Amino acid sequence: MNECIFCQIVAGKAPGRKVYEDEHTLAFLDLYPISRGHCLVIPKKHVRWFTDIEPSDNIAGPFLRACYIVARKVKHAFDCEYVTMLIRGTRVPHVHMLIIPTIKGEENLLDRTLNLHHFCQTHLKPQFSETELDAIAEKIRTAAP
Ligand SMILES: [Zn+2]
Repeated sequence: MNECIFCQIVAGKAPGRKVYEDEHTLAFLDLYPISRGHCLVIPKKHVRWFTDIEPSDNIAGPFLRACYIVARKVKHAFDCEYVTMLIRGTRVPHVHMLIIPTIKGEENLLDRTLNLHHFCQTHLKPQFSETELDAIAEKIRTAAP
């Protein structure tokens, strides 16, 4: 059996507090929530990285649609300022979108961390010169999708 914990949740072999499910996608509460309502959305097919999904897999579109639906459901379930979405494949090597609501009156670890990140980003010496940024933008524009 696949040892991926997310694949086990999809197969019903491991517990998960499901909040949404469709043909291609499953969403459930994170076991280690960093805010009230912190959910994970996963494609049912095992894929490590979002960028490993091939267009012919027909996963990316349904996955992002489900993420949108779950984020909206979380927003309406709680008194949210906003909902942060991050796609990762770390910790559990199965692509997952973190849906992390920021609820009015409640602090959470992600917002504290991102506030520190933003402070460093805006107060430290820029990492790239203007010429380098032009080259980086051109490289992305001309890369294969
Ligand atoms: Zn998996």
